[in-house]
Amino acid sequence: MADISDFEKSKRKRKAGCAICGKPIDKAFRPFCSERCKTIDLGRWLGGEYRLQTNEEPDEAELLDLAQAMEERRER
Ligand SMILES: [Zn+2]
Repeated sequence: MADISDFEKSKRKRKAGCAICGKPIDKAFRPFCSERCKTIDLGRWLGGEYRLQTNEEPDEAELLDLAQAMEERRER
């Protein structure tokens, strides 16, 4: 018989969605639903420091560019 607290834990885990958009998480991109959201989160994290100088919301396309640039640099 399953312990009630274990049941509650697993229930809570399943309920948690993508950290970016809240959609169901894809195993391949945990804890996100897709590569797109994973990249957006990475961009937010990387861009956070210098973004603090402006109060503008980071543009999604900009974040994707930034993440792509990071990937290219890493490949060298
Ligand atoms: Zn998502």
